[in-house]
Amino acid sequence: MAVLWLDEIGADDLPRVGGKGASLGELTGADLPVPPGFVVTADSYRAFIEEAGIDDALFEAVDVDVEDSAALSTAAERARELIVETPFPEELREEVLGAYADMEGEPFVAVRSSATAEDLPDASFAGQQETFLNVTDERLLERVRECWASLFTQRAIYYRTKQGFSHDDVDIGVVVQRMVDAEKSGVMFTSHPSTGEATMIVEAAWGLGEAVVSGSVSPDNYVIERESGDVEATVAEKKLLCERDDETGETVEREVPEDKRDERVLSADDIEALVEIGERVEDHYGEPQDVEWAMVGDEVYMLQSRPITTISEADDPPAGGVADLEDAGAGATAPGVTDGSGAVRSESSGSAGTGPATGDLLVDGLGSSPGTASGAARIVTKLDELDKVGEGDVIVTEMTTPDMVPAMKRASGIVTDEGGMTSHAAIVSRELGVPAVVGTTNASRVLEDGQAITIDGEKGTVVAGRDGEDEREPVEEVRPQSPVKPMTATEVKVNVSIPEAASRAAATGADGVGLLRIEHMILSLGQTPAKYIEENGVDAYVTEIVEGVRTVADEFYPRPVRVRTLDAPTDEFRQLEGGEDEPDEHNPMLGYRGVRRSLDRPDVFAHELEAFRRLYGMGYDNVEIMFPLVNDAEDVHALKNCMEEVGIDPGKRRWGVMIETPAAALGVADLAETGIDFASFGTNDLTQYTLAIDRNNERVADRFDELHPSVLRLIGDVIETCREEGVETSICGQAGSRPEMVDFLVEEGVSSISANIDAVRDVQHEVKRVEQKLVLDSIR
Ligand code: PEP
Ligand code: MG
Repeated sequence: MAVLWLDEIGADDLPRVGGKGASLGELTGADLPVPPGFVVTADSYRAFIEEAGIDDALFEAVDVDVEDSAALSTAAERARELIVETPFPEELREEVLGAYADMEGEPFVAVRSSATAEDLPDASFAGQQETFLNVTDERLLERVRECWASLFTQRAIYYRTKQGFSHDDVDIGVVVQRMVDAEKSGVMFTSHPSTGEATMIVEAAWGLGEAVVSGSVSPDNYVIERESGDVEATVAEKKLLCERDDETGETVEREVPEDKRDERVLSADDIEALVEIGERVEDHYGEPQDVEWAMVGDEVYMLQSRPITTISEADDPPAGGVADLEDAGAGATAPGVTDGSGAVRSESSGSAGTGPATGDLLVDGLGSSPGTASGAARIVTKLDELDKVGEGDVIVTEMTTPDMVPAMKRASGIVTDEGGMTSHAAIVSRELGVPAVVGTTNASRVLEDGQAITIDGEKGTVVAGRDGEDEREPVEEVRPQSPVKPMTATEVKVNVSIPEAASRAAATGADGVGLLRIEHMILSLGQTPAKYIEENGVDAYVTEIVEGVRTVADEFYPRPVRVRTLDAPTDEFRQLEGGEDEPDEHNPMLGYRGVRRSLDRPDVFAHELEAFRRLYGMGYDNVEIMFPLVNDAEDVHALKNCMEEVGIDPGKRRWGVMIETPAAALGVADLAETGIDFASFGTNDLTQYTLAIDRNNERVADRFDELHPSVLRLIGDVIETCREEGVETSICGQAGSRPEMVDFLVEEGVSSISANIDAVRDVQHEVKRVEQKLVLDSIR
């Protein structure tokens, strides 16, 4: 039987329907309020791979060294291809669509993976497999296959290998269940997840539960003493909610209306109803449960329940914790013992090896995984930076993602800005036995890279300094800088690529941002823009850009922030989910990037411009638009049309182009006539295209010279023409941080220089020195 209804399923059916399916079936049987649905059984998945003959290829593909991230990424890609490109068998297709047609009520269903090892008590595979909401018959089959494929994501392969599961032993069912149009939702621990006390913890936010589970919103937190019924409520500021867009049927993130942001989500009656259900579930299973719930009116629905995996006796190491996962010889840590890196882990604060924390309180949040840890804070803002997380460092990040798991394992502690007790960070760190503090709101902005910190995963505190013996190499000394900011006529700005760096950048005293690259915001989504939009909707995409830019624009207001439209070469996009649809180019540097791509896909580009329009609407008149890789006036006219089409008046906003090709430099007089306010030298590309030296090719790196006379000649001529035409000039390439280039530019009369954060102070001094020299020369 390819499909089983939830009321035909019990806990014993786990091998056939997976953990989630079995649990939902069991709850349905116990008369608990579970939305109706069915499961595409694990046997169907098995039959699918075996009948198509892709099983051997699949398991071979994923048999790799999981610590080698390149191999892991190729393995996951290959496995996914095998599954999603194999046709769906006709008989199964009919059965699944037939069952869907038999379901009563609304057309929208949730499609959830249900792996056969997923919910075992000793292996919480949190966040591993796909879930799709608001699916209709149109995409149902596609989503089922994607659930199957999600058994082979990088993180799933990594997890299984490390936990000692054979890939062949884990199957996957897919739950298809009626959507609940939740007004409120969240999670509930029927007992305290760390200590096991008879205290219920409920987290609640507005709208669909995705926002809470993914950690993108900090939910209200209610602690309920089961005996006395006392409730301690911590009401969070809830800026976002997830809901179904009525037109597209997609789940979209929306801003919570002002008056509901600080409003308490759960009334006393709601809490009573949840506690009643929580107690029934716990009684049914005879052990504490972690429940996902949703409410429509005063109806409560249970979306999932599973045993809490991490309650442990105070003195025992955690089940399936650090010791199990640590590589042999990598310095497996016992509770409270300093490991080779000097980081201290303990299962309860105050164990041997830890003294009282000494430093000042830096930030605080929710203690979500008990124990204390000391180490160097590592501010992680995107996947590529995971490499910098060494053994014993403390990951400090906005919110962890499933792909961060290998780094989370190396870390001695985790600190996140966002999320609640059931966010990805909280669940995984508890299972790894890594102390964690989540929902601090600002740790990644307040803490500094390399800063020594001590976290307490019970109290939820992060304090300055290390607690205990320090055997690590001392953290890199921050280069001492003169505290005095010199006044200069030429503006000195700063380059920013990740919004998280905004406050550090602003602290340099720079006159604005000369280049804000938005590629990093987009790449950190983990999906190509097309894929992201397909899965999350246009609004979410625009919101991502708005929020990223806004962080920087806020930090610098009213100083100008020059935001560059997307310029990622296709080889960078290929790394992302959805990257398989990117063109495979011989030379991506000469290919489909910058405004060439934007003008080729005005439909996608319009969403980027829409973000600017919204920012202007929000009052960020310090935002300027800069276009990359422009060649000629024809490009610029087309770009102006695009701006006008989304409702941006080029006459009212400040905007300009990068000078990155000899064509742009030689034709700058024509560019100036189009109405640009500024031209900014992208010397990384200008040098590459002038000298025909691939900037990424280390074999010719010694010939890559931004000070080559021909490059300087192009730059000098552009400055001269622009001065005549009243167009400002600037530099935002790497060379703007080099003193020789600074000297040249100031002498030529450039309007501003944008440098790297660390170089800003030196550049300010250099500019001042040259300016004074010019003044002296003129009067001598
Ligand atoms: C440049 O080319 O100098 C530049 C600043 O852009 P990017 O490095 O992002 O190509
Ligand atoms: Mg460039």
